[in-house]
Amino acid sequence: MEPIGLYVHFPFCAAKCPYCDFYSAPADASEMDAYSDAVINAVRAWQTKGVRFDTAYFGGGTPSLLGRRLARIAQVLNGEPLREFTVECNPSRVEDGLFEALRASGVDRISMGLQSAVDEERRALGRTADAETVLRRIRQARSAGFESISLDLMLAIPGQTAESLRTSIDFCRDAGVQHVSAYLLKIEENTPFYKMRDTLRLPDEDTVCALYLQAVRELAAAGFAQYEISNFAKDGFAGRHNLKYWNAEEYVGIGPAAHSFVGGKRFFNPRDTAAFLRRNAPLPDGDGGSFEEYAMLRLRLCEGLTQAGTRKRFGHAIPQSLYDRAEHIPQAYLRADADGIRLTAEGFLLSNSITAEILADV
Ligand code: SF4
Repeated sequence: MEPIGLYVHFPFCAAKCPYCDFYSAPADASEMDAYSDAVINAVRAWQTKGVRFDTAYFGGGTPSLLGRRLARIAQVLNGEPLREFTVECNPSRVEDGLFEALRASGVDRISMGLQSAVDEERRALGRTADAETVLRRIRQARSAGFESISLDLMLAIPGQTAESLRTSIDFCRDAGVQHVSAYLLKIEENTPFYKMRDTLRLPDEDTVCALYLQAVRELAAAGFAQYEISNFAKDGFAGRHNLKYWNAEEYVGIGPAAHSFVGGKRFFNPRDTAAFLRRNAPLPDGDGGSFEEYAMLRLRLCEGLTQAGTRKRFGHAIPQSLYDRAEHIPQAYLRADADGIRLTAEGFLLSNSITAEILADV
């Protein structure tokens, strides 16, 4: 079996940000100890079945809340043929020596939430670290030996303007990081932001589109080429683990709320840490890897759905019905030629409806 990806979810956060619906809650030291042991056991169980990992991603939640326990967990992957190993760190809480311990345990990529370099916007999102602290963390990570650092940016923050977004993009450029993920703020039900939605100064739809296109343009000018709807990287630094998702490649997900795709089957753990600690079996989520699913995921990438990739994976060309339907979509949103079909930045703003339209006959 070829090596696959590993995602581990850490369902802990010191406090809940008002816009976030990821599965996470506060925890004490003994809960984090028990969780660390459970993760190590779960990884070992896959290794015992002969599964090897070539990418690993520790996300959350706030993995860095676990401190040195993370380095102990990371060591279970020593000996795996890893080509990328990312840990998400919350810049407001990184204990002394953690970056060094992670680097010594084989982690080679750090992802941090900047969200905005404008402190007022960060505060509106419930983020406690100021931009200066984020910069200090980037420097600490770099001096610990990390040459691949990613920052999360948020678009369509209440009160965000073209000028304030430019400040955040300039921050990413000047901080010397290699990768930026820029996500549009989505108001999720069951969050404080949802209850406050009428009083938040949320940008209107036209402004949201303008902010997204500005991010694509200005990140490119700062050296971060777009390679996926929300992801931008310097040459050679596209996220290898996340590319597995968009290439419909297989991965194991460990922890509550984590999804897996192994042996052609998709399955997931419910949002329930206690159930994970009890080793409850994951729930089935159907078959994976169909052409429709592959096409849908590939259309998130700037490269798009290619003839070469489709032939390699499925042994046939892109079905003509996709080209027939693509003909009716304006060129501003989509390009279809002998190499394949791909969305433009403007098209990414309508990606759900465009993708559904061109795949309607599959
Ligand atoms: S730190 Fe991240 S995962 Fe935790 S509540 Fe905030 S946004 Fe959600």
